[in-house]
Amino acid sequence: MTLSPVSDRLSRPLGSLRLSVTDRCNLRCAYCMPEEEYTWLPRDSILSFEELTRLAGIFAGLGATRIRLTGGEPLLRNGLPDLVARLATVSGVTDVALTTNGLLLAERASSLKRAGLSRVTVSLDTLDPVRFRTLTRSARHADVLAGIAAAGEAGFGGTKLNTVVMRGVNDDEIPELLEFGRRCGAELRFIEYMDVGGATGWSASNVVSRAEILERIAGRYGPVEAQTVPGSRAPAERFRLEDGTTFGIIASTTAPFCRTCDRSRITADGTWFLCLYAADGVDLRALLRAGAGDAEIAGLIRTVWERRADRGAELRAALPERGALYAIEGLRADPRREMHTRGG
Ligand code: SAM
Ligand code: SF4
Ligand code: SF4
Repeated sequence: MTLSPVSDRLSRPLGSLRLSVTDRCNLRCAYCMPEEEYTWLPRDSILSFEELTRLAGIFAGLGATRIRLTGGEPLLRNGLPDLVARLATVSGVTDVALTTNGLLLAERASSLKRAGLSRVTVSLDTLDPVRFRTLTRSARHADVLAGIAAAGEAGFGGTKLNTVVMRGVNDDEIPELLEFGRRCGAELRFIEYMDVGGATGWSASNVVSRAEILERIAGRYGPVEAQTVPGSRAPAERFRLEDGTTFGIIASTTAPFCRTCDRSRITADGTWFLCLYAADGVDLRALLRAGAGDAEIAGLIRTVWERRADRGAELRAALPERGALYAIEGLRADPRREMHTRGG
C-alpha cells in the first residue's frame, strides 16, 4: 500500500521505525536493567511475525523505509531470520538492521544474512571480561566478541559497535575500543549515558559528554575531523582521525538532535511511541486485533504523526536540574517505560 509520505509539526518525516520483538533480555546492563525482578509484557500481547510485517508495510507506505529490529534482546525471539525475510520483501522497505547485545550472534549471523538483514549493530561497552561481568551480570563476554567476528565472517559490512560511555565505569577504554573496532572492521558509536527508562541510577556527573569524548580522542590521536553531512537525520555525528579511522558519537544527553528525528518505535506488544521519552504510546495491537483494515490503521498513524511535536531529549537537556527520568515505582507502574521494552 503506497500512500503519500507524512510529516510532523516540525516537518520531520516518518523515516525510520524501530521494532522491538521482545522485552526479554539475556543481559542485565546496569544502565538499562539494574533490578532483580521485572514485570514482563504478557505473552499473548506480543505481536506475531504476521502482525509485525503488516505494520511494517503500513509504515513503509507512509515513508518509514528503514527498519531496525531491537528489544530486549532481539536474538531471543525464535525464528528471527523468518521475520527478517518477511520484512526485507515488504514493498518500500529499503533497509532492515538489527541492534543486538551479540551473545547469540555467532550462531545466527549467517542465517540472518541469508534472510536479507542489511546491517548489524552490536553493543559492546567494555573489552574487559571482568568489567563486563560487573556491568551486565553475565560471564559471556567471549560470546559477544565471537558474535562480532561472526558478523564479519557472514559477510555483513558496515557493522557498528555501540558503547555507552560512563564516567568511572568504562571511560578509560575509549582508545582501546576504537582500536578494537578498527581491527575488526567495525565502527564505534560512543553513546552518551541517557537518563531514560531503566537508568534509575543515572546522574549528570556520570555522563561523559560528546565534547569530553572528542577531547580525549584528540588528546591521544591528534586532530579529529567532523564528517557529518549537513541535513543528516542519523543520530550519530561522524568523525575521522588522521589515520582514516572513523567513529560516531550519539550525544542524546548534552547535544540532542530532536529537530531532525524521524524515528519512532513500536514495543513488542504493539504500542507505538513517537519519542524515546514519551510517557504514553498508541495501542496499534488493539486495532490490528479488532480487524481494522490497512487504510484505517494508516489513517490513524498519519493523524497522530501530523500532530507530533515531541522533543524529549531537548526538553530534558533544558531542565535546570536533572536526575533519572523515572524512579523504580514509576517503571513498575508501566513496563513500557523501560528502555528494554521501548528498544533504545
Ligand atoms: N539488547 C540490545 C542491545 O543491547 O544492543 C538491543 C536493545 S538496547 C535497549 C538498545 C541500545 O540502547 C543499546 O545499544 C544500549 O546500549 C542502549 N541503551 C540502553 N540504555 C541506555 C542508557 N541509559 N543510555 C544510553 N544508551 C542506552
Ligand atoms: Fe543491555 Fe540491551 Fe539487555 Fe538493555 S536490552 S540490558 S542494553 S543487552
Ligand atoms: Fe527523537 Fe525523542 Fe530522541 Fe528527541 S528524544 S531524538 S524526539 S526520540
